[in-house]
Amino acid sequence: MRRPLIAGNWKMHGSRAENAELIEALLLGLPDQIPFDIVVCPPFVYLWEVARLLKASSIGLGAQSVCAEQVGAFTGESSAAMLKDVGCKYVIVGHSERRAIYKEDDALVARKFLATQSQGLIPILCVGETLEERERSQTMQVVSRQLTAVLDLAGVTALRAAVIAYEPVWAIGTGKNATPEQAQEVHAYIRAAIAARDAKIAADVRILYGGSVKAANARELFAMPDVDGGLVGGASLKADEFLKICAAAQSH
Ligand code: PEP
Repeated sequence: MRRPLIAGNWKMHGSRAENAELIEALLLGLPDQIPFDIVVCPPFVYLWEVARLLKASSIGLGAQSVCAEQVGAFTGESSAAMLKDVGCKYVIVGHSERRAIYKEDDALVARKFLATQSQGLIPILCVGETLEERERSQTMQVVSRQLTAVLDLAGVTALRAAVIAYEPVWAIGTGKNATPEQAQEVHAYIRAAIAARDAKIAADVRILYGGSVKAANARELFAMPDVDGGLVGGASLKADEFLKICAAAQSH
């Protein structure tokens, strides 16, 4: 039985005051015992302070990216060791905004995945096709290429300590989510691709859906057999909305 995970990607939003307000509302709204995992991923500059706000709570901390290198002259970057040092447990790697805006290719994403695990952190590996690729019926090909780059470098056993997020690019920040059936089709494909290398790992790995998840659609998306929670962008900035999405995971 896979434990659902709800991850909030705050992207480049927030301030010290807004973060404190959001965390306070989340902590107040969550029951003591929760049958799923929650993680919030603030911008780098706020990680340390958010870690202090989350202390001893059931909400984990994640970063939105990481440097593929361990240490040295890499201006503007943060290493996996640094992220661990400030309290992170998870790191998002290969988010489509990093791939598209910062030109992170499959090989770099795979190296970031390895760097994350080298410090015992859990990568949340994002894969997903653009609208153009979907319209050309290339969805499975693209997702397979992105996944294979990681599997070839890290090996399938690396997925014992990793999470995958299927995030169709056309659904991110657009308000237009994949239908539960569209999500399920790709999630099942990803799980089958992993099963071809190791059936047990495929059965255990959590595959999140991301792309305009909100309270209104979370329950039906999470009801799909291969959808194990969500990677939530915009809706993770509103405590009420995020708590409702978490509640939907609870009834999964
Ligand atoms: C994301 O940033 O990973 C995301 C899925 O964003 P949104 O929920 O806003 O579409």
